[in-house]
Amino acid sequence: MNYLQYYPVDIINGEGTRCTLFVSGCTHGCKGCYNQKSWSFSAGVKFDAAMEAQIIKDLKDTRIKRQGLTLSGGDPMHPNNIETLLPLVQRVKRECPDKDIWVWTGYKIDELNALQQQMLPYIDVIIDGKFEQEKADPALIWRGSANQKVYRVTNNGQSIAFTPMF
Ligand code: SF4
Repeated sequence: MNYLQYYPVDIINGEGTRCTLFVSGCTHGCKGCYNQKSWSFSAGVKFDAAMEAQIIKDLKDTRIKRQGLTLSGGDPMHPNNIETLLPLVQRVKRECPDKDIWVWTGYKIDELNALQQQMLPYIDVIIDGKFEQEKADPALIWRGSANQKVYRVTNNGQSIAFTPMF
């Protein structure tokens, strides 16, 4: 997996102060996409063990306390990206259990296949759906168009529940 950008300190993409990773690769082709550069899976640079270690180090940083990790893109839930991101989210929850994980995806939650669903037990908030230009509204919080939904994800060990936040 490649990534386009990593912000070690970010106060825009989710609640609180966060680490944010913008991954490469998206096949949704939304009209009016804010970042068409992110569509190519070969854009940006390779996500490697050093980058993963840097994220964990930043999340553990006590000088600037982070609430959690945000994954955006591109599409972090594209099947091509799961192989890399699943071990990352598992490691974050194992080594930084007090940190939350927010994910932006162009897929609707009910469209996720079995591979993509493996990410869900580690995600705290998911913002789903393509950007739809005709429903765009700059006043919306954490989403670009009104069709997109922000869900809090809870896992009781047997099932995953999605509670709309907005
Ligand atoms: S899902 Fe996001 S990155 Fe992908 S085309 Fe739509 S707006 Fe662009």
